[in-house]
Amino acid sequence: MAEYRPETTILGLGDAFYDAVEAARFPQHVVRFRNDRAAASVGLDGLSDEAWIDHFGRFTPLPGSLPQPLALRYHGHQFRTYNPDLGDGRGFLFAQVRDDRGRLMDLGTKGSGTTPYSRFGDGRLTLKGAVREILATEMLEALGVTTSRTFSVIETGEALTRNDEPSPTRAAVLVRLNHSHIRYGSFQRHAFHQDRESLAKLVDYCLAHLAPEASGPTPVAALIDHAVKGAARLAAQYMAAGFVHGVLNTDNINITGESFDYGPWRFAPAWDAGFTAAYFDHAGLYAFGRQAEALQWNLFQLGGALRLIAETDELKGPLEAFPQRYRAALSDAMLGRLGVKRLGSAEDEALVAAIQTALVATQMDPDRFFFDWRGGVRRGASVADHHYSHDAFSEFLRLVPDFATSAPSHDYWADADPCTMLIDEVESLWAPIAERDDWAPLHAKIAAIRRMGEAHREP
Ligand code: AMP
Ligand code: MG
Repeated sequence: MAEYRPETTILGLGDAFYDAVEAARFPQHVVRFRNDRAAASVGLDGLSDEAWIDHFGRFTPLPGSLPQPLALRYHGHQFRTYNPDLGDGRGFLFAQVRDDRGRLMDLGTKGSGTTPYSRFGDGRLTLKGAVREILATEMLEALGVTTSRTFSVIETGEALTRNDEPSPTRAAVLVRLNHSHIRYGSFQRHAFHQDRESLAKLVDYCLAHLAPEASGPTPVAALIDHAVKGAARLAAQYMAAGFVHGVLNTDNINITGESFDYGPWRFAPAWDAGFTAAYFDHAGLYAFGRQAEALQWNLFQLGGALRLIAETDELKGPLEAFPQRYRAALSDAMLGRLGVKRLGSAEDEALVAAIQTALVATQMDPDRFFFDWRGGVRRGASVADHHYSHDAFSEFLRLVPDFATSAPSHDYWADADPCTMLIDEVESLWAPIAERDDWAPLHAKIAAIRRMGEAHREP
């Protein structure tokens, strides 16, 4: 368990990076989700429920951390169009703390009220949006994806009007634990203003406090290399998890490579490159199979911003390495989820290709595939057996024995079905909350997801 270690490091950046703001006052505070596991990682699990509400519902500063919430300034490309009217419009940076790995972490909010960046928005988050963010982060964490964690959800008693939910709808304020809230768009904003000094300061902040292990001939080269590695890893992890983030805009991409900001996400029911999460993504720009391309495009925008303080040569090498890094990361993520041995990059890539061929041709449920073949050993009778005799599986069947470890031991692997999170289940977890304020199914699902996570962490 970690000790509580508050930080105020962000204040070193100065006023050009944020605006001090105040949290909304809410009519009511009902704790709906308290992530004591995440809280333990930053020494905050000992708080009473009253103190929890005081800090994560009323936003009384945490002792020794930030004296006032900060709305962070950023711009970004949204669906490839540059938008300078962004920034924390319904959230703020509430506190900074060290975690049990010594990392500088942010506690950031969503739904905590309006800020100078709210434009016409109400600064609020729907309760359903908060529940969806819990489900996404818990699933991704269990599947080994580098993600923010949902730290707290408190229902606020307000009624909101939304065009994508039956309205009025219930409201909540969410706190997330993130390895920074510095987005590609944070850099883009300074480049847009031709502010070299701030841009260089932000690079130094990231290298000193978020990526001390990054290296390169110059600070910018080190940072872009770090960003490329993080983005390649994240894109690969999304694929192996069968996850579609839905809104991979540059303002939603963290310089640390940690996934965050979950809106219209979905898990893919099949290995379908064109599967799209957001109803407003008409062109399928952020479809399942285009996520690596989207993240690479975003990296080029980050590179474009950094060009203001660096030579092309410092950026070119790291940016051009993205495809190789993505391929290697895809082997890590896919074979990691399968729980098999590694044989070498060419052999590993051949197995990944065989898996993708089989999943594309059969359009079987990918969660079922990874569940049935954990450890590279086919489990007993499965509802998917007819797929495994399909021609498209022959290459996989030929290759997999060399990768096999022993059959997995956690009792999760003996269940009838894998733990999944398709859209119908998301809706069926929300319905009892909406209809009769019944939170038991949600909490049971969180427990089931965490058990799956334990099973995946087993050697
Ligand atoms: P997102 O698509 O959630 O990443 O948000 C894009 C931008 O819109 C960010 O600047 C948000 O802070 C802002 N935003 C989204 N929803 C709201 C809202 N309800 N009120 C105010 N600002 C919002
Ligand atoms: Mg966002």
